[in-house]
Amino acid sequence: MKFITLAQSLGQLEAIASRNQMTEVLADLFSRVTYQEIDWVCYLVLGRLKPKFSGVEFNLAEKMMVRVLSRAIGQSEAESLKLFKQTGDLGEVILKLKTSNSKLKIRKSLEIKDVYNSLLKIAEEAGEGSVERKLNKMAVLLSQLDPLSAKYVVRIPVKKLRLGFSDMTILDALSWMQTGDKSLRPELERAYSVSADIGRIARVFKQQGLNGLKQIQVEVGIPIRPALSERLPNAAKIVEKLECFAVEPKYDGLRVELHLDKTRKVELSEGLFKQQSSFIQIYSRNLDNITHMFPEVVLAVEQLPVKQAIFDGEAIGVHPQTGKLLSFQETIQRRRKHNIKQMLSQVPIKVFIYDLLYLNGRAVFKQPFSQRRQLLEKILTKRQNGLVLTEQTKVNNVKQLRYLLDKYLQQGLEGIMCKKLDEPYQAGGRNFNWVKFKKNTEGKLVDTLDCVVMGYYPGKGKRVGFGIGAFLVGVSDAETIKTVAKIGTGLTDDQWREMKKRCQQIRAPKCPNSYIVNKNLYPDFWCQPKIVVEIMADEITKSPIHTAGLALRFPRLVRFRDDKDIDQITTLKELKKLHQLQTSMLS
Ligand code: ATP
Repeated sequence: MKFITLAQSLGQLEAIASRNQMTEVLADLFSRVTYQEIDWVCYLVLGRLKPKFSGVEFNLAEKMMVRVLSRAIGQSEAESLKLFKQTGDLGEVILKLKTSNSKLKIRKSLEIKDVYNSLLKIAEEAGEGSVERKLNKMAVLLSQLDPLSAKYVVRIPVKKLRLGFSDMTILDALSWMQTGDKSLRPELERAYSVSADIGRIARVFKQQGLNGLKQIQVEVGIPIRPALSERLPNAAKIVEKLECFAVEPKYDGLRVELHLDKTRKVELSEGLFKQQSSFIQIYSRNLDNITHMFPEVVLAVEQLPVKQAIFDGEAIGVHPQTGKLLSFQETIQRRRKHNIKQMLSQVPIKVFIYDLLYLNGRAVFKQPFSQRRQLLEKILTKRQNGLVLTEQTKVNNVKQLRYLLDKYLQQGLEGIMCKKLDEPYQAGGRNFNWVKFKKNTEGKLVDTLDCVVMGYYPGKGKRVGFGIGAFLVGVSDAETIKTVAKIGTGLTDDQWREMKKRCQQIRAPKCPNSYIVNKNLYPDFWCQPKIVVEIMADEITKSPIHTAGLALRFPRLVRFRDDKDIDQITTLKELKKLHQLQTSMLS
C-alpha cells in the first residue's frame, strides 16, 4: 500500500472522536493492507515503529524537528520556528509549506514499507554523531513525501500523532475487519494477553485467522499482560469466596515482569555492566521497557539457575544502611533515564518475586498457582542478590487472615494479597483469583481510584503563586470520561507545582469530545486525557452534579500513576461496584 493511502486514513481518524467510528475506519484500513504490512500499520497508527516494550524510541525533540523541517523544504529555521510557534503543530506547518510551494511537488508516492524502513533506520541510529545523522535522514525522508504524508510522518518522532486510541481499539478493529462487529474481541484479547505485541497479533490474525491466534504462545521477550486483583469488603467475605488460599504481603513498589533467556546472547556496546550477555528484559505493569533502570536486577537475574524464565514480581527500594523497605515515592526515584549509577547506591532495589509464568521452554502460567509456586521455590532457594521469594502463608479462616493483615500492616506494608491456590495465572484479567486486602478495606472506601485529570482551576489565596488551586478528575465509561471529583486539598506544595507543570503541557483548547461534564463544574483550563492520578477518599456518595452519578467525599491525591495508561483507569462499572461494597459493609 502507498503511504498516502495510510495518511488519508490517519486524516479520517483525526477528524472523528467516536471510538466506534475509529474502529470502522481502522477495520477498513486493515482490510486493504497485506498481512506483511499490517504490523507496520498497527505501530504507525499508534505513532510508533515497534511495540512500547521494544524500547525503540527516536529521542528527537520538537526543536530539532523544526531544524529538520527547514532543511526538508529549504527555508530558514527562523521562519519555520515562527510558523511552529503560531500553530504548535509541526504537522500543520509542513502541510502548509509543502502545499503552498509548487517547487516542492512530489510525483512519486512512497510505499508504506519504504517509509517504515527509513523511519526505523533513523530511530536505530546510535553512537557518536547519531543526532546529526538522524536529522539529515529525516530531512531527506520528509523531502520525498507528499504534503499529507509529511504531516503525519513529522509528528511520529516527537510523539505527537494524537489519535486517542490504544491497542484495545486495534483489537476491536481486527474483529470488525473479519466479521463487521466486535464479536472476536475476546479471542483476540486472549492471544494479546499472553503475547502483548499488537503488530504480531494483527499479522497472525490477518494471515491465519482464529486458528493462527490459538497457536500464539508465550515467548521470552514479549510481555504477558499482568494479572490484576479484585476487592472484597472484609475478611469474612474473602474466606467465603476463596476458601483455601495463600496470603502474601502486598508490597508498594513497581511491578516488574522479568524475562530471561540464556540461550539468546546479546551484544552490549554500552551500559553499566558490560559483563551481561544473556537476553534479559524488564517490563513494567504498563508494558514499558524499564530494563535500563535496574542494571543490578539484570545481573542478579542472570545468576539464577535456569535457562529461560518469566517471573512476575514487585521491585521496591531499600534503605542503603538499615535495609528497611522504602515508600513508593522513594522507590520511583529509580524511574529515570540518567544518573542511574548514582541511584544504585542511594536507592538499592529488592525484587520480591511472586509468580513464575514460563520455565525452560515451557509456558507454566496455566498450571495451578500451588504448582507454579513449587517451581519458584526450587529456583529461589536463597536471597539471590536482591531477588527474594515472596513470603506466603496458606490460610482458610478469618482469624488467621486478620492476623496476617495486622502483621504486615505493622511492618509498614500496604496490605496483603490473597491468591487462590488451584487457579492459573489470569494474564490481563481482573478476577477473584487474586483479592487485595488493604488497610482501608475494613473502613469505608475499599480501594483507591485511578482517575484522569480533565482540567484545572486557577489558585486562590496561597495557591495563586502555583497557578492552580483545584483540578477535575473523572473515570471512564465506554467511550466517555465522566467526572467524580474536584480536588482542591491534600497536595503538598511540590505536588501542586508538579500538577500545574503537567497540566500545562497537555492543555486542550476546548472540552475534549469524550468528556461529559456538568456546566457548573467547567474548569478554566481543559487538559487532554493523559495524566492518571491515584485518589483516596473517605467515601463514595451519590451526586447530582458529577456526571458519573457518584462523587468522592474528601478526595485527595495519593500519587501520580505514570505506570498506568488512560485505558487502565477506574471504570464507572468498577466505581459502582465499590459503592455497592461500601453500602453492603454499612448495612
Ligand atoms: P490494579 O493493579 O489492581 O489495577 P493498582 O495498580 O492500583 O491496581 P493495587 O490494586 O494497589 O495496584 O494492587 C495490585 C498491585 O499490587 C500489583 O499490580 C502489584 O504491582 C502489587 N503487588 C504487591 N505485592 C504483590 C503480591 N504479593 N502479589 C501480587 N501483586 C502484588
